[in-house]
Amino acid sequence: MKLSEHGCAASEPVHMLVGNATVITCDPAQPVVRHGAVAVTGDKVVQVGPEAELRRRWPDARFEDAGGRLLMPGMTCTHTHLYSTFARGMALSRPAARCFREILERLWWRLDRALTEEDVGVSAAVALVQCVKCGTTTIMDHHSSPNAIDGSLDIIGEAVEKVGIRASLAYEVSDRDGPKARDAGIAENVRFIKECERRPTARIRATFGLHASFTLSDETLERCAEAGHALGAGFHVHTAEGPEDQALTLGSSGLRVVERFDRFGLWGPRSLAIHCVHVDHGEMEILRARGAAVVHNPQSNMGNAVGAAPVLEMARRGMLVGLGTDGYAMDMFESLRTANLLAKHVAGDPQAGWVEARRMAFENNTAILARHWEAPLGVLAPGAYADMIAVDYDPPTPLTEANWFSHVLFGLPGAAVNTTIVGGQVLMRDGELLTVDERELAARARELAAALWNRI
Ligand SMILES: [Zn+2]
Repeated sequence: MKLSEHGCAASEPVHMLVGNATVITCDPAQPVVRHGAVAVTGDKVVQVGPEAELRRRWPDARFEDAGGRLLMPGMTCTHTHLYSTFARGMALSRPAARCFREILERLWWRLDRALTEEDVGVSAAVALVQCVKCGTTTIMDHHSSPNAIDGSLDIIGEAVEKVGIRASLAYEVSDRDGPKARDAGIAENVRFIKECERRPTARIRATFGLHASFTLSDETLERCAEAGHALGAGFHVHTAEGPEDQALTLGSSGLRVVERFDRFGLWGPRSLAIHCVHVDHGEMEILRARGAAVVHNPQSNMGNAVGAAPVLEMARRGMLVGLGTDGYAMDMFESLRTANLLAKHVAGDPQAGWVEARRMAFENNTAILARHWEAPLGVLAPGAYADMIAVDYDPPTPLTEANWFSHVLFGLPGAAVNTTIVGGQVLMRDGELLTVDERELAARARELAAALWNRI
């Protein structure tokens, strides 16, 4: 069998060509392909190139017409909370929260304690549908439901498989709801990580989730570290998000948050340090030396008024900083725009953040996900997962290999996503969800959310 220059067998059957598109690939080898198409076999991309050439080569492949739209890799999100769905419109308890810790106590911890198993599944499915609609095709989720822990990751996993995107799942271990919930959280991570190894699917991965230093005792960290290390898992943990996390950790342990986690060996290339708003130079150096990834969530940080992560400094140090949403939204185009603006605002420099925002959303998220999935994500190139979105966008100015990012940053809202494809499966076409009944799901979600609000 003769291999082509792209490493695929020329006689290999291609089941789908996605074409009639301007393709933004995020592949430095050919950033933009006009009149382009993507050839897909199974769940992977075989070739990206001029449509006429690909049609000649695979005349019998099913043709998915992108309608002259922009075709690009699905957006990726390296930190979110699917369970945040039912917080929308929920009344806050009085008095109003004045700091980050009070936001947690009066909103998030009230919400997560009230979640039932059905709430977990339905709220996740609603958020996953939002991902499909705004073109986010891979997420790394961090779940909490202290009164419905056992099997909660399976419930979310079923919703992920049904809606059709990719997700890495984790249960947020914490001491805040007592030893029983703590033990159940550890057990849920261990069980689910083992289950993913036993029955691997290309859609789902797992990390070992922990809440944050100020709700984790030394004993709990010791147990999580031991269990996670035995499984070769990465740890996914909120890190110095608010000033309270540093102050409480310093007060109780004499160590800063990153130092404390380092004592337990939590940092490695498969681990995710979420936020890192209040880290100092020594902590950055630890994360860099260990190769751990940091995930920036600018909208959430601004909403909680916790400050701005030193992402420009982290980038200068060569740290791997990805981009998430922290459940604030599922739309990564919004997070990207905010990351760019926040960096400029904080630096007092209109030139700041441009390169870093692009790297966080594209190159760095792709590098982080490559530590968890076998094939590349966030890029359209031979061998990558066939995850792509067609976006309604008629460029009002020339779109070139040099300025594609400017068009993405300023021109593409998630709402303009018309078609979403994951692993070669069309999940949404012309704005219509093909895997779930969106209206029925939203109706059930409204009933469950109303009932949950009444309980708390
Ligand atoms: Zn978070």
